[in-house]
Amino acid sequence: MKKNDALQTAISILAEITAFDTTSRESNLKLIEHIQSYLDNFGIESRLTHNDTGTKANLWATVGPDIAGGVVLSGHIDVVPVDGQNWSRPPFTMWQSDDKLFGRGVVDMKGFVAIALALVPQMLQQNLKTPIHFAFSYDEEVGCVGVRGLINDVADNLPLPRAVIVGEPTSMKIIGGHKGSRSLETIIRGVPAHSSDPRLGSNSIMAAARLVSYLEALQQELADNADANCPFDPPYTTIDLGQIKGGTANNIIPEFTTVSWGMRIVPGDDGEAIENRVRDFIAQEIDPLLKNVDAFDQPVEIAGTQTTLYNVVPPLVPDTHSDAEQLIRHLTGLNNSGVVSFGTEAGLFQQAGMSAVVFGPGSIEQAHQPDEYIEIDQIKTCIDFVYQLIDWAAGENPFDLFIE
Ligand SMILES: [Zn+2]
Repeated sequence: MKKNDALQTAISILAEITAFDTTSRESNLKLIEHIQSYLDNFGIESRLTHNDTGTKANLWATVGPDIAGGVVLSGHIDVVPVDGQNWSRPPFTMWQSDDKLFGRGVVDMKGFVAIALALVPQMLQQNLKTPIHFAFSYDEEVGCVGVRGLINDVADNLPLPRAVIVGEPTSMKIIGGHKGSRSLETIIRGVPAHSSDPRLGSNSIMAAARLVSYLEALQQELADNADANCPFDPPYTTIDLGQIKGGTANNIIPEFTTVSWGMRIVPGDDGEAIENRVRDFIAQEIDPLLKNVDAFDQPVEIAGTQTTLYNVVPPLVPDTHSDAEQLIRHLTGLNNSGVVSFGTEAGLFQQAGMSAVVFGPGSIEQAHQPDEYIEIDQIKTCIDFVYQLIDWAAGENPFDLFIE
């Protein structure tokens, strides 16, 4: 397969898969079936892992021998919503202008998926000795949710791959580390009453304000204690405080307020310990306040708080000597790697025992934006890289080339 044909194939596959609206809230099964039948035409079997309701699936497939030690090309096929964004054309119909391709998901990250699929004929032609796997996931954009089922399936049932390339847009630079995250929600329940007499109730919004102030002070403390050698930007664990909802009217002491909060944790910081500090503060400083209403002799037991941890994304711990990073350095000649502050699926692969890096075409700056685009030049660069990967995977014991 000539490289120029590969480029044209990748672009036409990208146009096809962009046309499936796989916003995270939608089912992705039509696109999964589309990819499955594409692979099927080459005699490649797909392995699916579904969500609980069966409306979404991850796809795993292997080109080459069914053995351990392979390389995974990993990408999520869900996209962020276009709601409220000002697009100059319909976002799910890819268009080209100059040397750029536009459409929702083209850079984050269906472009990488299209490249992987376009090079299947090349992989088959080369008779791989080291397998190349595809891992395409759902619900990445809502907290790296879907890929967990795929990773569990691989770890429990399949020969374990050795290196994972998560093709999020990094402008084809190696990202060896990222922050982790924890997402929480605190529901604060006060005692409703008429606003004219605050002694009759307890105000959940005022209680929420205490939590907000505590989180703000905690943020400052984390910033003040930043490690001067921390490679991340910002170089410390940061607090998320993204949503607050409470109250019904100005003349009612509000019964319920919900605060969504969390943190983005630098590798090495103990996110659970930080979470527990906040939980302790809530238990000691907010719960009693809600229950103690002037007008009542007894504490109002129904008032109080409930804090739920609903998502944890592990960090990708930088490891310049990992198989994944050494592989890409070997193939590309790149001799350094960076870190980013957003989470990806790479940390989950690493946690499951597979070395992982983030390395993919296009810029993160265009991700999630209206008129999202990817430069065709980036697609070319990534195709060149996958060609090199294929040549490498066709050799005998190719990891020996760079692992002492
Ligand atoms: Zn992404």
